[in-house]
Amino acid sequence: TEDIIRRSDKLSIAGELAAGVAHEIRNPLTALRGFMQLLKAKDTEYVDIMLMEIDRISYIVNEFIGLAKPQALHFVQSDLRSLIGSVIQFMQPQALLYNVDMRMSAEWPIASVMCEPNQIKQVFMNVLKNAIEAMPNGGQIEVVVSMDPDGNAITRISDEGVGIPQDRLERIGEPFFSLKESGTGLGLMVCHRIIEAHRGQLVISSIVNVGTTLEILLPTVMSH
Ligand code: ADP
Ligand code: MG
Repeated sequence: TEDIIRRSDKLSIAGELAAGVAHEIRNPLTALRGFMQLLKAKDTEYVDIMLMEIDRISYIVNEFIGLAKPQALHFVQSDLRSLIGSVIQFMQPQALLYNVDMRMSAEWPIASVMCEPNQIKQVFMNVLKNAIEAMPNGGQIEVVVSMDPDGNAITRISDEGVGIPQDRLERIGEPFFSLKESGTGLGLMVCHRIIEAHRGQLVISSIVNVGTTLEILLPTVMSH
């Protein structure tokens, strides 16, 4: 358990730093993008490059938005299925681009989760983003929500993607650890941190070239 504590300390420091940075970057970035769009009428080539770079920064910052409001942590009773449903809808354009099909099914009933809805949405956004990116030639993402015997809500997100080599699995979720050419290695660190704050658990299992499954446990009002 000492290892786990030290690991979560590291995550917490990195998370707080990242949240602060994300918060400070977001507003000027939005303004910058607006003005670039105005400039585009005059000089297309350079402006396109600049817009691309701005979008890259936005992408990184967006992975932190759920963390960027630490003062406004309001835990409310939420319907997990509708939270996930709205994230699936939000991710649909990116899924279409990759030829990826997303499906959700849920046991009934699923007890309400006490959570900060925006943070939980952030978790599912980062996880679905990874699942989509793992299938450059398309495929299926299956999201299944169920209850465990202790009254926790379990969400399994499975893809048919490239998978993660067994010897790398342990490092996944460390800040800046990425196996992608232009990855940030921040998405799952943020997920870990949010789930920890909700007293939940995140477990990853994976088989190379078969797929990856993330299991997310969240306590509900029925947990004991
Ligand atoms: P990033 O996506 O920017 O690389 P993440 O923290 O979101 O950073 O993920 C870290 C790493 O975990 C990824 O680079 C990838 O190697 C691996 N990973 C996460 N989810 C999946 C998945 N569904 N399938 C395959 N690899 C994954
Ligand atoms: Mg990611």
